[in-house]
Amino acid sequence: MSIVPFENEPLTDFSVPENKQAFAAALEKVRGDFGEHWDLLIGGEGISSDRMIESFDPAKPDRIVGTVAKASKQQAKQAVETAYDFWNREWRWTDGNARARILLRAAKIMRERKHELSATMVYEESKAWLQADADTAEAIDFLEFYAREMMRLEGAQEVVAVPAEENTLYYIPLGVVVVIPPWNFPCAIMAGMTSAALVTGNCAVLKPASTAPVIAAKFVDILLEAGMPAEAITFCPGSGGEVGDTLVDHPKTRMVAFTGSKEIGLRINERAAKVHEDQIWIKRVILEMGGKDAMVVDESADLDNAAEMAIKGAFQFQGQKCSACSRLIAVDNIYDQLVDKVAERAKKLKVAHAETDPDVAAVIDADAQEKILQYIEFGKQDGGELICGGNAIEGGYFVEPTVFRNVKPDHRIAQEEIFGPVLACIRARDFDDAVEIFNGTEYGLTGGLLSSRRDRIERARRQFHVGNLYFNRKITAALVGVQPFGGFNMSGTDSKAGGQDYLQLFMQAKSVTEKL
Ligand code: NAP
Repeated sequence: MSIVPFENEPLTDFSVPENKQAFAAALEKVRGDFGEHWDLLIGGEGISSDRMIESFDPAKPDRIVGTVAKASKQQAKQAVETAYDFWNREWRWTDGNARARILLRAAKIMRERKHELSATMVYEESKAWLQADADTAEAIDFLEFYAREMMRLEGAQEVVAVPAEENTLYYIPLGVVVVIPPWNFPCAIMAGMTSAALVTGNCAVLKPASTAPVIAAKFVDILLEAGMPAEAITFCPGSGGEVGDTLVDHPKTRMVAFTGSKEIGLRINERAAKVHEDQIWIKRVILEMGGKDAMVVDESADLDNAAEMAIKGAFQFQGQKCSACSRLIAVDNIYDQLVDKVAERAKKLKVAHAETDPDVAAVIDADAQEKILQYIEFGKQDGGELICGGNAIEGGYFVEPTVFRNVKPDHRIAQEEIFGPVLACIRARDFDDAVEIFNGTEYGLTGGLLSSRRDRIERARRQFHVGNLYFNRKITAALVGVQPFGGFNMSGTDSKAGGQDYLQLFMQAKSVTEKL
């Protein structure tokens, strides 16, 4: 068997007129499909429900992008049970290479429908064009990468040979994996966790985020078209607060793959640890959670470039990335100059509906908008100086790009994840102080240093305690296979999605010895 090595899916160049036109056509197509409905998919059957989740456009909340059936607790229970039956009967015994081929086929279909999927995210999650395009490209990457990884891990693995015995080690699947993704990378992370579970021979019960079910439904359609058995992939939208515990607690659930907030991640961790009646295993969890990511800038850096990187990290996709730059830490002698440059640029950012491809679009929903505005109040109350933005904008769930000066490391906006377009600029006395401030939160996801001093880069390489560290570039946009992604401390279990260690987390190793 031989296939070309993995390569990242290229991003679309929207400065090319044909690409721009093709994307505009996809936006129009998606608008024409507004209101489409998807049922639950349980036990290989489409199942309706008397309740629906209406997925709306955050920039025009009265516009419904699509609807999905909303699972009840009983249906969530049934979802795990039917998935387990199919897994135990059939799916666990399938060949890993055959499963990998389904992912490769799905990647091909996604490539063919790339603009349509991205356009869906323009409306459902308010992603500007390139942000949406990158999300779809990352999802394709996950499928391509995990397919190859499964081919690598299928069959007997190498062990030390001893005389008179044949020894082998195989990776085998776990069982039912409940997949709970966030809404912010609604295609990439959702598809990444789901495809990892499936390709390793598990049945996946996918409960999409309630603000992002349409893109997930389209992905499930693609998996089915690619040849995934309908019983292997369960589509179980529902309110996390309502059905989340049922899915996590079920004794037939073997693993939970979660990406989302610290609060929900810790809740899942605790609940999954409890052994229920008829449960014969210890549940495995991977929990990828929030961040309070920082970029440090010293006096040797190019300050215009640093300001540009901070703006991109803080405000692309409205700061709603786990990797977003929410703290800018600058050493004293360049702090004022750098913060002025950042504020000057932030004031020029265009805020508008994502379909017009602005710099900043709407945040995901009313709760997010309220939370962000609340943190802006905390920023002022704690003594930060608001120098840009700070307000909601009428029409949809918009918040102005917001910059605070003179934030102290212990202020709430410097410690807690806001998940919105708010940048806290913190002054460090010197580089030693900057290292301390950088590491001074409970999180440890992404971060970076802009400096031309080799000694500082080497020190930061050792001492900046984050899962994904970047020098002299922005701190977002990790690539599958290139920068495996996952964080330390309260940022999660560091599962390193898109890396060579990831698929083993969805499997267990069986050692077999035969006396010769
Ligand atoms: P969230 O509120 O924690 O929700 C994540 C998922 O959990 C959703 O599907 C949600 O369903 C579900 N959920 C809610 N309550 C639940 C419960 N009791 N049991 C089980 N599941 C439950 O997070 P989010 O707002 O979607 O995403 C933003 C967060 O994700 C941020 O903290 C961000 O930093 C983090 N994130 C981390 C990474 C990473 O790789 N480390 C990547 C992306 C995002 P509903 O939608 O129905 O409530």
